[in-house]
Amino acid sequence: MPERAPLLLLDVGGTDIKAAVARGAGRELGPALRRGVLAHADASGDALVGQLAGIAEEVLDGERPGAAALLLPGIVDTARRRAVFSANLGLRDAAVPDALSARLGVPLAFGHDVGTAAEAELAEGAGRDGAACTLAVVIGTGIAATAFVEDTRVDVPGAGELGHVPVPGGLACSCGATGCLETIASAAGIARAYERLSGTPVPGAKQVLERAQAGDPAAVAAWDQAVEALAFALHWSVGLLGVDRVIVGGGLSEAGEELLAPLRRALAARLSFMPLPTIVPARLGGDAGLVGARLLALALEASLASEDSA
Ligand SMILES: [Zn+2]
Repeated sequence: MPERAPLLLLDVGGTDIKAAVARGAGRELGPALRRGVLAHADASGDALVGQLAGIAEEVLDGERPGAAALLLPGIVDTARRRAVFSANLGLRDAAVPDALSARLGVPLAFGHDVGTAAEAELAEGAGRDGAACTLAVVIGTGIAATAFVEDTRVDVPGAGELGHVPVPGGLACSCGATGCLETIASAAGIARAYERLSGTPVPGAKQVLERAQAGDPAAVAAWDQAVEALAFALHWSVGLLGVDRVIVGGGLSEAGEELLAPLRRALAARLSFMPLPTIVPARLGGDAGLVGARLLALALEASLASEDSA
């Protein structure tokens, strides 16, 4: 059996690009390289393709990959292989995947950053554990969610914008709407809520939790408001889809049971006849996107091999 070529993995988020190479017999994920996105008003994606090509060269260190995978944020259309819309990167109906594939001369799989990370969480992280409908929620600077019916992701362009549904107490949002969940329940939203209530700046949600544990009433109020808002949004998800498993990831999930235990209680208090879903922490952490990109690249490689042998 010939030596298998490495896989090039690129995970582009709203502010950062993570890159890694999977090498060796099992194509294990190598260490991740992280770079800030250089162009933020790049409708065509040309600047992003240029930066990604440079990062690929750096991380590959002269090796030639057999396949690659690229993840992009915002609204992506994987069937048409286009970045439809990205608020943070400025992409508008940009053919980034095919442009990068041509530039690198490598077949390239394409996925959504949050959706692909959620697929990795189901396949190699927190898992499905027999659930009929799983919702993977990522709570960081913003909030996004990915739904699965058994092992199949609900992969529709624009799906998963749980952070931009209205909740009681929600505020004016950068998306243009008012009342969005993430204005009060994301890590950034919790920190801002504390600042509004206390008049005191705080570095992030972690410090709000620490102050809440120490009995600071403004911190308790900001944290409780976030938990109630998350429970409100999950109640809708349970009612609409019959969600029976919720996986909570992203920066805020580092709070662990300090977040999940009150969230279970708040959701249980809201649900009347609907069963309470299990609520568990994500397992893969910040590299979930690269783990998912590896799965996409492996699937692409397998489909190319079966075409070759056909
Ligand atoms: Zn919004």
